[in-house]
Amino acid sequence: MRVLHLDLDAFFASVEQRDKPSLRGRPVIVGGIGPRGVVSTASYEARTFGVRSAMSMSEARARCPHAAYLAGRFAVYREVSEFVMDQLRAISPLLEPLSLDEAFVDLGGSDLPDLSPGPVRKLADDLRATIRARTGVTASVGVASSKLMAKIASEQAKPDGMVVIEPGAELDVLHPLSVRALPGVGPATAARLARLGVKTVGDLARITEPDLVDLVGAAHGGMLHRLARARDERAVSTERESKSISVEDTFDRDVTDPTLLAALVTRLAEKLAERMNASGHSGRTITLKTRLHDFTTLSRSATLPAPTDDPRTVSRVASRLLSEIDVTGGVRLLGVGVSGLSDWVQDDLFGTEPEAAEDPGERSAGGFVGVRTDGASGEDAPADAVPSDGDRAGDVRVGELLHETQAWVPGMDVVHDEHGPGWVWGSGLGRVTVRFETAGTPPGPVRTFAADDPALSPARPHPQALSE
Ligand SMILES: [Mg+2]
Repeated sequence: MRVLHLDLDAFFASVEQRDKPSLRGRPVIVGGIGPRGVVSTASYEARTFGVRSAMSMSEARARCPHAAYLAGRFAVYREVSEFVMDQLRAISPLLEPLSLDEAFVDLGGSDLPDLSPGPVRKLADDLRATIRARTGVTASVGVASSKLMAKIASEQAKPDGMVVIEPGAELDVLHPLSVRALPGVGPATAARLARLGVKTVGDLARITEPDLVDLVGAAHGGMLHRLARARDERAVSTERESKSISVEDTFDRDVTDPTLLAALVTRLAEKLAERMNASGHSGRTITLKTRLHDFTTLSRSATLPAPTDDPRTVSRVASRLLSEIDVTGGVRLLGVGVSGLSDWVQDDLFGTEPEAAEDPGERSAGGFVGVRTDGASGEDAPADAVPSDGDRAGDVRVGELLHETQAWVPGMDVVHDEHGPGWVWGSGLGRVTVRFETAGTPPGPVRTFAADDPALSPARPHPQALSE
């Protein structure tokens, strides 16, 4: 019972409900608000209407038209996430974050005198209570003998619960589950298995390893064969040892043509995504490396809120990073890399294309791409390494890099000279509607202004909730 998995419940939506009292108990959907946006997080109220992560926003709107649709506030999510990760790190330095709201902890690195159910339950209870009291959001926790089982346990604990799977009970829990419970089994693999009558993990455990390898390939087949027997030796890999994959290309001559450079970055990103797919990895931090005509090597990286292996997302982020570097003198070498790797293949929640909204008075918040870039301009990063503590440096919202907009995006924090702090409820046709409330107030009134009202400005979130 060495591995603890923590997952915040409906994280982004919970933070929004915390800070927007009028939305508590109501369906809230956070995601890309452009025409091709996808749902990032749906509150539990929205889930009862069948809205799910990674669903297109248009389908979500059809299922749940009365929900609040918000673009998301990553600075706030990151603040809560950092608090939670600090709590976990205090339990054990052997911490593997998977995304802003999810992490594995190896309790072998903790002070617990023994890892028996009693002390482990007490530790998990205290952890959940602290997170709830200090952040206003709830966490679910699973504890088990492996990463696979700990993650399944926290899934079963949701929402706001804890499940401990004691040694020996693994197969009883695992075998009735759908094959989709195993990492790396997406809809395509599940469909292929279903054609053979394999629906549950127990069904899968009856297939021989050679048959599985035939079906899904060598690497994947071997892994599935072990996981179906709850054999999971994967270690919790800490931030410092996080692996990376990169691809690069050196050119015979300096490349100066921007169109060609853009095409080369896209090709490298696709190659990188192919490798990630082949090895069953997804990653959070994308790095672009350039060697200029004078052999200066520059790297820029950006970290997404959740891991991706989507070639379009990798390519879009890499292209934006290229646009931050002065390449007018020519480029000798280009590389694209990814780190913060996770062997849990996740749906890509952030892969929407940025687009202008139809309404000329409203500009798209676009791809709902997080978040930060590191490396000040002119600074040199080691050629192949991606800075492992890059998450701390120079936060810039990629959304801003992508669009350079200062639009009134639904959900964003604003302040009005006369009415005080509030959030954007909606905008369009040259108007913006604001609800004046914060985490510490009752549900507040709604008022509409001209979009260029000088009394209204974007605001840092109203300070609250990280203490209660
Ligand atoms: Mg979560």
